[in-house]
Amino acid sequence: MASGGGNYRNGSHRNSLKGTTTATDRALFVNSNPSKPALKNKPLSSGGASSGLRKSSPGSLGGGTAKDDIGVSGRVRVAVRLRPRNAEESVADADFADCVELQPELKRLKLRKNNWDTDTYEFDEVLTEFASQKRVYEVVAKPVVESVLDGYNGTVMAYGQTGTGKTYTLGRLGEEDTADRGIMVRAMEDILADVSSESDSVSVSYLQLYMESLQDLLDPTNDNISIVEDPKSGDVSLPGATLVEIRDQQSFLELLRLGEAHRYAANTKLNTESSRSHAILMVHVKRSVKGREPAHSSENGNSTNMGKSLRPPLIRKGKLVVVDLAGSERIDKSGSEGHTLEEAKSINLSLSALGKCINALAENSAHVPVRDSKLTRLLRDSFGGTARTSLVITIGPSPRHRGETASTIMFGQRAMKVENMLKLKEEFDYKSLARRLDIQLDKLIMEHERKQKAFEDEIERITTDAQNQISEAERIYADAMEKERLKYQKDYMESIKKLEEKWMTNQQKLGGERKEQMISTEEIGEVKKLLSKETSLRKAAEEEVSNLRSQLAQLKMSEASANSEILKLRKMLEDEACQKEKLEGEISMLQSQLLQLSVEADETRRRLDRGVPAKVPGALDSLISQIRPQVKDSGNGEKASIAKLFEQVGLQKILSLLEAEDADVRIHAVKVVANLAAEETNQLKIVEAGGLTSLLMLLGSSEDETIHRVAAGAIANLAMNETNQELIMSQGGISLLSTTAANAEDPQTLRMVAGAIANLCGNDKLQNKLRGEGGIKALLGMVKCGHPDVLAQVARGIANFAKCESRASTQGSKAGRSLLIEDGALPWIVQNANNDASPIRRHVELALCHLAQHEVNAKDMISGGALWELVRISQDCSREDIRTLAHRTLTSSPTFLAELRRLRIEY
Ligand code: ADP
Ligand code: MG
Repeated sequence: MASGGGNYRNGSHRNSLKGTTTATDRALFVNSNPSKPALKNKPLSSGGASSGLRKSSPGSLGGGTAKDDIGVSGRVRVAVRLRPRNAEESVADADFADCVELQPELKRLKLRKNNWDTDTYEFDEVLTEFASQKRVYEVVAKPVVESVLDGYNGTVMAYGQTGTGKTYTLGRLGEEDTADRGIMVRAMEDILADVSSESDSVSVSYLQLYMESLQDLLDPTNDNISIVEDPKSGDVSLPGATLVEIRDQQSFLELLRLGEAHRYAANTKLNTESSRSHAILMVHVKRSVKGREPAHSSENGNSTNMGKSLRPPLIRKGKLVVVDLAGSERIDKSGSEGHTLEEAKSINLSLSALGKCINALAENSAHVPVRDSKLTRLLRDSFGGTARTSLVITIGPSPRHRGETASTIMFGQRAMKVENMLKLKEEFDYKSLARRLDIQLDKLIMEHERKQKAFEDEIERITTDAQNQISEAERIYADAMEKERLKYQKDYMESIKKLEEKWMTNQQKLGGERKEQMISTEEIGEVKKLLSKETSLRKAAEEEVSNLRSQLAQLKMSEASANSEILKLRKMLEDEACQKEKLEGEISMLQSQLLQLSVEADETRRRLDRGVPAKVPGALDSLISQIRPQVKDSGNGEKASIAKLFEQVGLQKILSLLEAEDADVRIHAVKVVANLAAEETNQLKIVEAGGLTSLLMLLGSSEDETIHRVAAGAIANLAMNETNQELIMSQGGISLLSTTAANAEDPQTLRMVAGAIANLCGNDKLQNKLRGEGGIKALLGMVKCGHPDVLAQVARGIANFAKCESRASTQGSKAGRSLLIEDGALPWIVQNANNDASPIRRHVELALCHLAQHEVNAKDMISGGALWELVRISQDCSREDIRTLAHRTLTSSPTFLAELRRLRIEY
């Protein structure tokens, strides 16, 4: 019975889940609409409910797991059984009709109110006085037993007035006639037939509840058993009750007999066999689930053996409770002789509490008074709980007990409204897993021990073998030594013998011939010498042998180390080869660097001699300072050094390095060439050897800015010569220099390029070509860099150009405006006429004077603001020659004079 309401109360929730009969549904078919076909066939019939559970609810059994908490709705099934008239009734009621009339095919019972009026009730099953015990079992108990075997809890309970056949229905042993066997006996027969004696177990407790005390019918001394409830699962257990494992039907029958003997039977007026106590048989069926994995572990397809052995077995624990209730009649009516009122109240306490609970459950009331009695606590799972419950109400036919019969019928009707939620009692059997693992562990330990022993034996065997082999070798060696010794001894003895013989013969001879004595004595001495020599030789040989032996052992040892040594050496050799290759590369690089250094050193030396500050890369400073004193001393050192350089390396070779693959080599080579080109005496040779062409090509082909800078510097130096200027122009020098300038980021590169162009600007013959190829534009383009060195070169170029132009105009070979003005140089010229940097200012001032000398330029100069600069130059310029030139220029130009007058400037 659900205590607070919880699951059971929520009838609509259950409906939505399972769509089964609700309390409202049943109300219809109980009384007011008994023929409603959909409800009429509600099964309590043989196998009906069980097959419904087994087959048509696979969700509850097939898919149910230990973790599956979803129950199956299962209403309490109620059958009514009518006892035949007994002997007393046959006499006493002979003139009266039975108070009930049964319509088993309609599952209806009619209760006579009086002669003309009856009430009709419908039950799940109506069992007449002719119903056999077998049929009653199949209809009432079998579905419950099958559920228990499937792992559900089940209850079969008999309710009725004393003497109506509760005990007959439930507890008959059928010893005389097997057809009389009651539900308990038949249930156990079915259970034992279904379980496996190996993996399953069946155990039984048998109790009696009398006056709210729970007694053990299998152990009468145990008369106050307490009920324990699991607060989580709500499961009720009786840890104090005797639990007997049942293996066969015979032992069960004996157990029932024993229980019956112990049962407290209170005689009443109605029936000597009736009882005032409740008898409760509990059958625990524990079954292991084979071939079915719990849902969560079956998802894991590749479980290992270890995984398998770690998975606890799944077990189902079904519990069948068979309750033979005390008589439902009111105590006062039954007489209750010999009992106190207290006892009478007590006897009925559990029964009335049961009635109240069933009323509450039937009416869906919020409170179910489960805790009011021990019986209701014991049966909390049977009504409103998770068990499949089947109730048989027993009635008698006698009209004298019509009231009791009516109340029994009403109890049954209300019980039919009680809805349970069947729940599979499946769980993991951790205990048996632990047992299994223990066994496995023991096996493993044993196996390990065996292996350990075998291993130790093997070690021992190998050790003995080795020892045997060693002693065998030692023995062989000793034998050999002994043999050798004996052989030597034998030889020795033999030679002694021979010598003795010889000596004897000699002695004999000596006896006869005294003359020969001397000789013999000498001979003996000789032989003795020989003998001692022989002996020492033998010793030496023996020593040699042992020496050789130890050497052999040493050799063997050193052979191994030699092998590894060889490997090491090989590796070292490879490394050496590698290193050598690298060094060779470095040598060629160093050679080219040396070349450059020597050139640079020469250059520096020359400059120092001439008092020109050296343009030396930082790394060379120390070298130069080292050679400086020597340079000063030797006046002819310079020429000698250059000559030496050409001699040693050859200009061709240096120039060919300009095209070297290695970028570093190229850079060094171009530096060498640039340094050489700075010297006028080398310039012709460089140009003749094709150096200028190579430098121009390098400007076009290389992307390295250092190369650009150095090559442009070299070209600038070479461009000081008129012939070279023409050569540069003819080889597209302007466009190459312009491109270099456009791509340059380093102001020094720009300075070199501007210097080269400036030099070209000073050539009278090249004026038009230079301008035509964009030389002036290129110069003007470089001013945006802003670096004073670059600006100075630009100014120098413009001044050069203006001077040549002026010369050509004077000679009459040029007419028209200055090309500088045409190319837009005037604004920059005017802007920089008073530049702070004197090299810039000076060149610009000169350029302005050159431009102003020709009337064709005057108008542009006035509008460009150049007039004011000329006036300023003529007055402020620090160089007198320029000042004079400016003044003369102004005064000789009618246009300028007119403008000055127009502006009313006194000049
Ligand atoms: P209860 O346990 O309800 O007090 P019992 O089972 O002791 O009633 O039955 C009372 C008497 O009626 C017994 O002698 C029993 O043999 C008899 N009896 C009960 N039911 C039947 C029945 N269906 N057929 C034959 N005899 C019955
Ligand atoms: Mg009885």
